[in-house]
Amino acid sequence: MSNSEALQGRHALVTGGGRGIGASIARTLASHGAKITLLGRTAATLESLAAELTGNGTQVFAATADVGKRESLDAAFAAARAQLGRIEILINNAGQAISGPITKRDDALWDNMLATNLSGTYFGIQSALPEMLQGGYGRIVNIASTAGLTGYPYVAAYCAAKHGVIGLTRAIAREVATRNVTVNAVCPGYTDTELVREAAAKISAVTGRKLEDALLAMTKSNPQGRLIRPDEVANAVAWLCLPGSDSVTGQSIVVAGGELM
Ligand code: NDP
Repeated sequence: MSNSEALQGRHALVTGGGRGIGASIARTLASHGAKITLLGRTAATLESLAAELTGNGTQVFAATADVGKRESLDAAFAAARAQLGRIEILINNAGQAISGPITKRDDALWDNMLATNLSGTYFGIQSALPEMLQGGYGRIVNIASTAGLTGYPYVAAYCAAKHGVIGLTRAIAREVATRNVTVNAVCPGYTDTELVREAAAKISAVTGRKLEDALLAMTKSNPQGRLIRPDEVANAVAWLCLPGSDSVTGQSIVVAGGELM
């Protein structure tokens, strides 16, 4: 079997699939033959990538939903199922990283970080897991972060949510270990996407530092001295979904140039 056929016919749903890391994951899984559902809040971004993937011969469905709202997510998953069949691979990638000092009692920020990064992952798994168990096959990859394994200043809510994603990953991996469903987390360091550029812009606005200097500080946290490329995260995700990784479950794979070891 060639690599381009390894996921032939498998239906993969990627949340936050319209841009950044999620778009790269969608392209990579499609290159291995998977049918792809792209899910996010912005129809235009999803449609644009859907057109690109369709042009390459991939079966694609675009579904708009807010992952932090269970009803919205359930409806989108049902529509995806109706279009492309049983969801067999779920990539919980949608996320946001909004910063603020812990002394600022910003409950809206806390609620949003937990809803988008943690509850969204929980709702997604609850929606897709029953059909994976029934079908005797499932691959779930949660995009956490190095912030799921260590602390960073000014992102307490984001860190708490991503630590939660890792706890959820470990617990569910054990719960379904005998059912040919694996559950893993991938933990990128600073990756070259809009999320990082927005974070750098905010640091620059708050501290008065130049945007380039804020970005440079981020690259310095990586021993390789650079931002991670989205396709490097996507390759780790694909490996967890490809045949041969069946015994890898409950893990948190760090893709961060050696930042954590
Ligand atoms: P981007 O901001 O580039 O993309 C985020 C994606 O998530 C978009 O497609 C966005 O689409 C979607 N999204 C955001 N909120 C929601 C929501 N409530 N419901 C549905 N979709 C949503 O970020 P990245 O690609 O960088 O991030 C992807 C994941 O990787 C996130 O979980 C992030 O925490 C994680 N990560 C990123 C790192 C980085 O340095 N870039 C480092 C470590 C982890 P839309 O706005 O249209 O809904």
